[in-house]
Amino acid sequence: MNNEDKAQRHKARQQKVKEKVDAKVAAAQEVKGLLLVITGNGKGKSTSGFGTIARAVGHGLNCAVAQFIKGTWENGERNLLEKLGVEFQTMATGFTWETQNKEADTLAAQIIWKECQRMLADESIDVILFDELTYMVSYGYVELDEVVEALNNRPPMQSVIITGRGAHRTLIEMADTVSEVKNVKHAFESGVKALKGVDW
Ligand code: ATP
Ligand code: MG
Repeated sequence: MNNEDKAQRHKARQQKVKEKVDAKVAAAQEVKGLLLVITGNGKGKSTSGFGTIARAVGHGLNCAVAQFIKGTWENGERNLLEKLGVEFQTMATGFTWETQNKEADTLAAQIIWKECQRMLADESIDVILFDELTYMVSYGYVELDEVVEALNNRPPMQSVIITGRGAHRTLIEMADTVSEVKNVKHAFESGVKALKGVDW
């Protein structure tokens, strides 16, 4: 096949792709707030959630963030987004992977979950990030039923992003968009320290 034929073939193929995409775009007519779940073992869940918040803030939308882990860690996103008027709620005790005190953790989780319920009832908030919420549900610190109810009753145009490993099946089922970030490799596994500005 000569180059001209190749170019012709490529053009025809692209035209077909375009037609398919155009048809899908035309078919997508529903407008509603979305529920996104970003899960999996690879790096990129929280950064994806925060990227969406940055995107929404850039459009002048009203956003809020609740972080269920790393309460005492410094975090670049908070430094930036709070300056731009994004409400932040973090778990007071700085829950970590090592915590052994279930009672104290449940209490701390419940305090921030109350703030989340308030956010989910607030029509003026367009996009909410619940960073690492999945663990609260898996550990039973926050009742799955309460999460489902609050999400189902939220304002119709409000979008919610939930991040964290091991998202509960129910959350995956009710979400509109679910992405699983796969770990291919991570610097930490070869002994590299978490880096400011990249890892936190
Ligand atoms: P990020 O905040 O960078 O998007 P994440 O939210 O996907 O990461 P978490 O499970 O919340 O991942 O872990 C938070 C921290 O752990 C980050 O510093 C991240 O770089 C690191 N991390 C994420 N995935 C891995 C992994 N597969 N192995 C080692 N460390 C990881
Ligand atoms: Mg994370």
